[in-house]
Amino acid sequence: MLDDYRREYADFNAAQMREYYLFLSGQKAELEIAPIYERYSDLFTDDSIAALKRELDETPEHFETERAAIRRLLNFAIDMFLGNSTKELTETVSEYESGARVECAGRSMTFQDAAVALTKESDRELRRAIYEGRLGVIEASNDFRAERLTRLHGSARSLGYGSYTSLYEEMFGRDYGGFAGECESFLTRTEPLYLARLDEALRRDLGLKLEEVERCDVAYFLHLTDYDDYFPSDDLLRVYSETMSGLGIRVDSQKNITIDAEPRPRKSPRAFCVPIRVPEEIKLVIKPSGGQSDYQAFLHEAGHAQHYGSASAELRPEFKHTGDHSLTETYAFLFNHLISDSAWLEQLLGFRESRSFVRSVILARLVAMRRYAAKLITECELHQGEDLTRAAALYADLQTSATRFKSGQTEFLFDLDDAFYSANYLRAWAFEVALREYLKERFGNPWWTSRRAGDFLKEIWETGDRYTADEMARHIGLGAIRLDLLIDEFNRALKH
Ligand SMILES: [Zn+2]
Repeated sequence: MLDDYRREYADFNAAQMREYYLFLSGQKAELEIAPIYERYSDLFTDDSIAALKRELDETPEHFETERAAIRRLLNFAIDMFLGNSTKELTETVSEYESGARVECAGRSMTFQDAAVALTKESDRELRRAIYEGRLGVIEASNDFRAERLTRLHGSARSLGYGSYTSLYEEMFGRDYGGFAGECESFLTRTEPLYLARLDEALRRDLGLKLEEVERCDVAYFLHLTDYDDYFPSDDLLRVYSETMSGLGIRVDSQKNITIDAEPRPRKSPRAFCVPIRVPEEIKLVIKPSGGQSDYQAFLHEAGHAQHYGSASAELRPEFKHTGDHSLTETYAFLFNHLISDSAWLEQLLGFRESRSFVRSVILARLVAMRRYAAKLITECELHQGEDLTRAAALYADLQTSATRFKSGQTEFLFDLDDAFYSANYLRAWAFEVALREYLKERFGNPWWTSRRAGDFLKEIWETGDRYTADEMARHIGLGAIRLDLLIDEFNRALKH
């Protein structure tokens, strides 16, 4: 059974990834995933899930790799069973968003362009108007999101799990309730310095007081527009290529990683990476607009691309496509966070005296992490029960208290990722701090100029998604992944 299953599984992944690539890169007007699910529907029926569970039960404990492999296939089957039960609603929401227009102050924008406009609009009234316009689009499609969520919960229970939470806890071997406790402690322990630095930055950059800021201000605040000139869009690919070349990675000769920088009207404004076939066909897609957030997003996606592009072709397909997402996110954040390395800024971009920029970037990062910590706590509450109204109120409360940017309930379901993805980001942020410190200790502070550091990274990337983030952290000798590392890093960086 397994050999056939594996082959079909690899084909399904490639087909699905290709569809996402074509849609998000603006080469296809509609996202058509339902026909792909239909074509491969045998992969995620109740029977297939039961058969994979039997295979797992019959495989002796000491066949560790074999068991890990079957578990990955089983996780995939369950995840896709849920995806299959909601595929039409997923398409409906995506169609609605990609067709929607935001009309504001005589301008007409796509839903996505409105998100970009929010990051650049210095006039607060206009910012609020664009934000309200986007909220209108979100609100109009929230019923579909609610229906989709209810269906996901129902599908989890139909497989015999007590809740959506217990399904994912069993799949990934996690304790999300315990992790929510860690997130609460993260919020408490980073709060004093967060509030002090945020208050200063808001007065300085936005001319606003802490008690005045709202959700419509977040994107503009995080964009750090004052520094745009240091990050021209024309230099982005050079910076990428030179950074990798310091590590001994020649991006020009990586034929398997294609950079798609072609301008297309419907292309996603945010950089993304799609591993269509690992490691043979990796797409790294950008629509460069410049500014530090564009650089961060591209370097992040480049980290994913290098990870998938360096995975061994010999790996079983389930160790190429279905892993612990915290692992690939860790590699992505490793490059993403070069933006706060003053030596890197000076060497690659000629940006000297970057101290206040670096502090602003780190504060912006803390805004994002506090947002995600609050999201995870809300998700634990949401996925245990069915009370959407209560979870929406909790979302608004926690987002407001964690970030201090006043947030409403409308964005609750729009802001929600499937499968506890927020936990993957939080764990990856913590693992990345440990990995970065390790690289600095072993290869020197500018680790990104060391070929030996590059060799080390290529060696761990070669294992693709074979190991979970926890296994990889242990394997490198870094111990357990804990949010304490993040707390210390922020409190050190934001102290004075
Ligand atoms: Zn990522």
